[in-house]
Amino acid sequence: MREYVFERPGTVGDAVRRGGSGTAFLAGGTTLVDLMKLDVMTPDRVLDINRLPLRGVDTKGGGLRIGALARMSDVAADPLVRRGFPVLSRALELSASGQLRNMASIGGNLLQRTRCGYFRDVSTPCNKRQPGSGCPALGGENRMHAVLGTSDSCVATHASDLAVALVALDAKVRLRGRDGARTVDLRDFYLLPGTTPHLEHDLRPGELVTDVVVPRLDWARHSTYLKVRDRRSFEFALSSAAVAVRRDGDTILEARVAVGGMGTRPWRLTAVENALVGRRASEETYAEAAATAVDGARPLRHNAFKPELMKRTLIRALLELEQTR
Ligand code: SF4
Repeated sequence: MREYVFERPGTVGDAVRRGGSGTAFLAGGTTLVDLMKLDVMTPDRVLDINRLPLRGVDTKGGGLRIGALARMSDVAADPLVRRGFPVLSRALELSASGQLRNMASIGGNLLQRTRCGYFRDVSTPCNKRQPGSGCPALGGENRMHAVLGTSDSCVATHASDLAVALVALDAKVRLRGRDGARTVDLRDFYLLPGTTPHLEHDLRPGELVTDVVVPRLDWARHSTYLKVRDRRSFEFALSSAAVAVRRDGDTILEARVAVGGMGTRPWRLTAVENALVGRRASEETYAEAAATAVDGARPLRHNAFKPELMKRTLIRALLELEQTR
């Protein structure tokens, strides 16, 4: 690990003033410290933001507001989240391990870096870590990699389960920078890799995530998150699905669907949503809708199974959601 300056700003304004290029914000540290030890991230200055008043969960504005420094386990257990947005609780509970969920913050979870092994190994090239150096995953080990939103420069998946659930719910992130505050749709916050995979977010130098806001959605209580992975705990998604459905009897009136483990960013599936709306809730309907999910998928040598797995994950998530009604 390289030397760096360590500071503890006392206010959001102070943190933003001190932030900028070469500076990293430290919350739970479960990603940043790992990557600093590996020399993948080498900030000159680390700002510990844990004293900032950015915790808590509330519904004061009508929707759900989650402070960026709230811990994953606290948010997963919060009654407002459990009752009104079970898809968020499930996504959080199925992430990482109990110890990590106690440490890791919501903001850090959303900004976590990819788990691509080449990205984390500084002895190999990687366009995301070192622009223009190449992408060994294209012709190498790519079983866990993405099939949606990929480019010839990068095929890494986005690792956050929570982000998939939030994208399904049209969540927004609130940011504070030197130029003031702004709000960005989480869906647009994550950038496609294109030819610049090192640019991952619509986040300006020194900008801080302060909150996540989920718009009011009363029927989000009918939602769930399903995660398929190689082992039962402490593992990233091979495939996952966040689903929410509003019904009148057997008829589907509205649906929200997003998948993880498939895309270079959390992947909203509006084609699947449209294929569900107006139809009778049944396995046949779910299978027909799920078939549209794979449009545009580009499997790699070792992950040709992923489009079929995505369809099956979606169908199972929708069937499991029925059992919670
Ligand atoms: Fe790097 Fe992306 Fe290629 Fe992985 S997939 S080696 S993160 S450029």
